[in-house]
Amino acid sequence: MRVMYVASEATPFIKSGGLADVIGSLPKETAKKDVESIVVIPKYQDMKFVDQIEYVTNFDIYMGWRKRYCGIFKAEVDGVTFYFIDNEQYFGRPGLYGYDDDYERFAFFDFAVLELISHLNIKPDVLQLNDWQTAMIAMLYKERYCYYDYYQNIKIVFTIHNILFQGKADPKLLEEYFALDSYLYYNGNCRNDGCLNMMKAAIFYSDVITTVSPTYAKEILTDQYGEGLQSILEMRKHDLYGILNGVDYDVINPSKDQTIVKKYSARSVKNGKLENKLALQRQVGLPEDPEVALIGIVTRLTEQKGLDLIINQFEAMCQRKVQIVILGSGDRMYEDALKGAAWAHQDKVSFQCKYDFVLSNRIYAGCDMFLMPSLFEPCGLSQMMSLKYGTIPIVRETGGLADSVQPYNEFEQTGTGFSFSNYNAHEMMDTIDYALHTFYDYPDAWDAIVQRAMAEKLDWDASAEQYIRLFASLL
Ligand code: ADP
Repeated sequence: MRVMYVASEATPFIKSGGLADVIGSLPKETAKKDVESIVVIPKYQDMKFVDQIEYVTNFDIYMGWRKRYCGIFKAEVDGVTFYFIDNEQYFGRPGLYGYDDDYERFAFFDFAVLELISHLNIKPDVLQLNDWQTAMIAMLYKERYCYYDYYQNIKIVFTIHNILFQGKADPKLLEEYFALDSYLYYNGNCRNDGCLNMMKAAIFYSDVITTVSPTYAKEILTDQYGEGLQSILEMRKHDLYGILNGVDYDVINPSKDQTIVKKYSARSVKNGKLENKLALQRQVGLPEDPEVALIGIVTRLTEQKGLDLIINQFEAMCQRKVQIVILGSGDRMYEDALKGAAWAHQDKVSFQCKYDFVLSNRIYAGCDMFLMPSLFEPCGLSQMMSLKYGTIPIVRETGGLADSVQPYNEFEQTGTGFSFSNYNAHEMMDTIDYALHTFYDYPDAWDAIVQRAMAEKLDWDASAEQYIRLFASLL
């Protein structure tokens, strides 16, 4: 089986978010399991390891009346073949997204991917597409390319990483960039709320749709989480699957992490975490105290991550015997609120307003608890990282948080974390209190939770199996 994964970013070459981690890890894992795995991404100016990629060929792309140069570069990494789509005008600039012509840039990319297949004679069995940047490939394939002899019988899988970003564009662009007739807009195939909606097109045209956790797959069928696409998803719900993302334990692992002060495993967790905790307290300017419960937060500061609940209960949290360290940047409103709170409680709270990879690992390693009360969370990586580091997650039961954190049950002595159901600040505070009570009053039970958390197996192995079974079922 040959699978071609198409995305706008992939580690180790270029990353802006979790999508890059998935495209860096999943193909690597399917390649290990005897699936020929190909990844296609744009060749950005800011890409790493450019010295390791080699030129293959070039050809012209016709997008409506536009004729554009398309260069192809290639690299082999861990058994996966990466192809890079080159065009200086579209991708020879800093960063990845946020340009006025993003729809044109990715329309070019979408055509380039389909043309690459025949120019290099690498027809895949499955085309796996990710998010709006690649969504229109599904429509272009089903409305045009599948009728060419060479392209017949390719199956299309579309994966939703975050339904918030849909690629909503002016309907005129369907003809202008994609050279598709406007009746395909007016008949509703790609129309939503008066816009050309690229994600809707992919949901409509793909053979199956997946998303990054089983709970999120159910949630996006509802008005609350569907972001306007719930009706089309309802139509396709028998072809909608939730497969939890994994994490790469070669990288996310306290026994291998070069950036933390003291490496540790499940057996050495007590001393290991203690050393990391004291070092973290020193680094972020909190009083060194081995006894106090240290709560960590590492996040983008956006509404999605539950910042409203945190800020609502901040004073209450500071009345408890705790220390809180927050690493994150984002919306100005949340940054200002946290700066104020940290200033008012300097002996208890440290707010590090920046993006800092090393400090993030030190927080996962040094804290006792990790707070993540998200409003919605397609999958979430941070809670899986904190489990692996023996830092007990306190989460809201939504999306991937509900699928990866098992709530503590004091009667059966099971569970790997603490969770609450409703998006309600007091429910969150009650759950934090319950975690603190367990931490201080039942240290043996706490240690057992830590052991279960660290033993949890949330790597790509099982998830990749599920993807492969799904791909195979389409052929
Ligand atoms: P999302 O992709 O929605 O931001 P995830 O939990 O899936 O959320 O992934 C977030 C990743 O980004 C985690 O690995 C987290 O450690 C990291 N991260 C978020 N904010 C920061 C920051 N300020 N500094 C360092 N790492 C961060």
